[in-house]
Amino acid sequence: MRTLLVLASLVVAVFGRKSFEGHQVLRITAEDDLQINLLKNLTQLAYLKLDFWREPIHESLPVDVSVPSTSLQTLKSFLKNNNILYTIMIHNIQDLLDEEQREMNRSRAFQPGSTDDYDYANYHTLSEIYSFIDLLVKEKPKLVSKVVIGKSYEGHPLNVLKFSTGANRPGIWIDTGIHSREWVTQASGTWFAKKIATDFGRNAALTAILFKFDIFLEIVTNPDGYDYTHTTDRMWRKTRKPNSGSDCVGVDPNRNWDAFFGGPGSSRDPCSEIYHGPYAHSEPEVKAIVDFVKSHGNLKAFVSIHSYSQMLLYPYGYTRTPCKDQAELHEVVRRAVIALQRPYSTNYKYGSIINVVYEASGGSIDWTYNQGIKYSYTFELRDTGLYGFLLPANQIIPTAEETWLALMTIMQHTKKHPY
Ligand SMILES: [Zn+2]
Repeated sequence: MRTLLVLASLVVAVFGRKSFEGHQVLRITAEDDLQINLLKNLTQLAYLKLDFWREPIHESLPVDVSVPSTSLQTLKSFLKNNNILYTIMIHNIQDLLDEEQREMNRSRAFQPGSTDDYDYANYHTLSEIYSFIDLLVKEKPKLVSKVVIGKSYEGHPLNVLKFSTGANRPGIWIDTGIHSREWVTQASGTWFAKKIATDFGRNAALTAILFKFDIFLEIVTNPDGYDYTHTTDRMWRKTRKPNSGSDCVGVDPNRNWDAFFGGPGSSRDPCSEIYHGPYAHSEPEVKAIVDFVKSHGNLKAFVSIHSYSQMLLYPYGYTRTPCKDQAELHEVVRRAVIALQRPYSTNYKYGSIINVVYEASGGSIDWTYNQGIKYSYTFELRDTGLYGFLLPANQIIPTAEETWLALMTIMQHTKKHPY
């Protein structure tokens, strides 16, 4: 018994997860610039330990913030005193985390011997997803291979699935999970991989795409962060590289690209969730994609998948000047959103990043677009904030299914409009 207790405490010490007991998520609706600036000041107050799920940048989009129980009173009185409206979106984050763990434990005991038996309706650890990748490659060696494009800071391989039916094809890139806590994206990426492998030779539209293009799919784009969301802090967003001169770890890998790097909508503060890093492409996870894109040299579409907010976006994030293909990109996302809406009536907003979301500098698709990849898009998957990053596992498959229809629209358009 004593040995068991010692073991149990060791397990907690090694795998101690941060508790979110009593943490609430508030949705704050700022009415004007003045209120937005008051909220921006809050992001500087480290002692409140606020975690902005959606940063205060512009009053067009509500601010979602996770608040530890110790700061709730202070924050709520601050908002009331300044006549800033808010609602409580999540009453206790830990309740959702407990439910998420119960679901995962339910399927954990089972080791799938084939990708047919993989539990797509559940969240999985890094090693489970990496095993899935190897299994899929083993099952479909003529179609699927694994390309390791680099290593993460902690040394995890950066695995990319390559779906290919011939040499020297132009490529379509899809990545999920560059922000590690956006779990529905890695789960959807896994489902996409299986969908591509299954539909090839059966679905005429996908088969035609694969006779013209290679599809590259990076499911866990930020493996260090993803592993950390499982072992230690479910709400981790950034990379896991230490920052010199600061106790705060990690860089926002979607502010780290050489596209107006360091501009508005990113932060120079290493403790910020939108810290852009010491210099462009400083993060090995970003640099690996940059090198891959450049050495491939013939990617025709680049899709980066995030959550949450239900949006389909195209460049730019760093400037209001429309990109030169705006009319065409807009028409594609309009049609993609109609396709996405069909199965579950999920509503999406669409347009350029800066017009639909807010100013954001150093983002991936602004960089890829400027590299000449015309069909550069980014998704924000479900939901609109009811669960935010903690989307229940029973929404994974519906989310993946609807998103796939939008991806097919984008890929088919890319195929029909060579450039
Ligand atoms: Zn994201």
